[in-house]
Amino acid sequence: MIRLNQVKLPLDHNEDALQQFVLTKLNITEQQLVNIHVFKRGYDARKKNQITLIYTLDITLIDVDEAALLADLSTDQNVRISPNTDYQYVASAPEDLEERPIVIGMGPCGLFVALILAQMGFKPIVLERGKSVHERAKDTFRFWRTSELNTESNVQFGEGGAGTFSDGKLYSQVKDPGFKGLKVKQEFVTAGAPAEIIYVSKPHIGTYKLVTMVEKMRRKIIELGGEIRFETRVEEINMEEQGEHKQVTGVTLHNGEVINSRYVVAAVGHSARDTFQMLHDKGVYMEAQSFSIGFRIEHKQEMIDQARFGINAGHPILGAADYKLVHHCKNGRSVYSFCMCPGGVVVAATSEEHAVVTNGMSQYSRSERNANSAIVVGISPEDFNNDPLQGVALQRKLERHAYVMGGSNYDAPAQMVGDFLAAGKGKPYENVEPSYKPNVKMTDLSEALPEFAIDAIREALPAFAKKIRGFDSKDAMLTGVETRTSSPVQIKRGADFQSLNTQGLYPGGEGAGYAGGILSAGIDGIKIAEAVALKMLADLTE
Ligand code: FAD
Repeated sequence: MIRLNQVKLPLDHNEDALQQFVLTKLNITEQQLVNIHVFKRGYDARKKNQITLIYTLDITLIDVDEAALLADLSTDQNVRISPNTDYQYVASAPEDLEERPIVIGMGPCGLFVALILAQMGFKPIVLERGKSVHERAKDTFRFWRTSELNTESNVQFGEGGAGTFSDGKLYSQVKDPGFKGLKVKQEFVTAGAPAEIIYVSKPHIGTYKLVTMVEKMRRKIIELGGEIRFETRVEEINMEEQGEHKQVTGVTLHNGEVINSRYVVAAVGHSARDTFQMLHDKGVYMEAQSFSIGFRIEHKQEMIDQARFGINAGHPILGAADYKLVHHCKNGRSVYSFCMCPGGVVVAATSEEHAVVTNGMSQYSRSERNANSAIVVGISPEDFNNDPLQGVALQRKLERHAYVMGGSNYDAPAQMVGDFLAAGKGKPYENVEPSYKPNVKMTDLSEALPEFAIDAIREALPAFAKKIRGFDSKDAMLTGVETRTSSPVQIKRGADFQSLNTQGLYPGGEGAGYAGGILSAGIDGIKIAEAVALKMLADLTE
């Protein structure tokens, strides 16, 4: 197959334009062209009234000497042989293997560790503190409706992990030379995600589809011999001293039950603060990691569509517009938009009592009236004395303060951008109705974050308006606080994916500092599954 990169066509090109392009580019006849497969489709909207689509195509040919054709076009960087993107399993478990790997957490990282291990014949035991996704959805929606929080079953905890009630964006900045991201997306499609997620450059799934997909993936793991236990919190990872290192021996559950295994994956997400504390107390090596704090901002989606797509706003290929913004401030801080949810809602995302945390989610249709994103300021380990658990303490302090500012009932503090920029008091909202549930309390948000963060956001919003007209309009809505953008700790691991000082412990995903979203957590899960499988086989032959 031949791969063509950077194939640019107008947004409204007709059906045969791709074929015509391929025939001309490769100088072949229609009879020699068997198939055009769209590997990727993105768009360039820098000129909003003249948007172009950008394709990567894989071309199947017949009666063509591909080597000669490639030699003829060797100076053209955009014509190459298509890489093999099929996923190759690295191991296969022997039938009589008795020891079973343990996977803590069933977010995207744990889900893919378990799925790939199960597909290779290792029969993982998955331990998830939260409930099955169906039961968890009931608890989460109840919290949004009635302010009754279940601290073990919520937006952060439960089958599917933190991204289950989300926009389901599936793109990532991570380098992925082995096409593991494609394997993640293929498994999602098999479980019911729209097929287009394989090729569009910014795929998303939306929350309802994610819920049913996670259920199907769970069934597959069980069919392959895996075991999944919900409402099963790991209280301790057990280990013994072996010379300079520790060796994992298994886990102790919340009910005192002990499960032995020398292979334990900790894919616990960024909100497992009690689990971080336990690992820290046991001497597992970890470091403080940068994270960010800020607010959610909401605008009318149609305003963002107009600003980004001009006369093409509403075009079905483009869908609801997103954005990505960054501003470097005078005080040395950077402010950026994060986890943008077109046509979505702001959600209450705390897992702890007496705390308010915002995040965003949307449906596949992205048809809600508001666009939202986190507008956050980076803070680094020096801001919390390089102590890993001080980052957690800072997050908690801000979340509890926001709870009080919101009225001590899980309503979130909110303010219109105009009032925030003018350092004014919280007035009733105008055009942009806040979507956070249970409710918001209009107040003065300048008290919600440290001064440097408030100054930075006040400087950034007008700067963002130079890129997206109206971004700092006075009726845009800020809701706070956004504190769980990433993990404040990194549980360091070596090239073999095991903890630096604890053999048999495989820290992974977002909580351990190795992923920053659904796709990258899934990719990390595949890598860990491969490392665990190879180690288990190597230990068998020792
Ligand atoms: P998690 O998904 O956090 O999963 C960890 C799991 O471990 C949890 O289910 C938890 O219950 C369990 N656990 C923790 N401690 C224990 C224990 N001691 N014992 C047993 N189980 C335990 N990312 C995107 O890429 N796109 C998006 O659109 C997007 N939107 C988001 C919207 C929201 C509302 C949120 C909260 C996050 C969103 N994210 C999004 C981020 C994304 O969800 C995370 O990056 C991703 O889920 C991290 O995966 P993970 O498997 O590492 O951890």
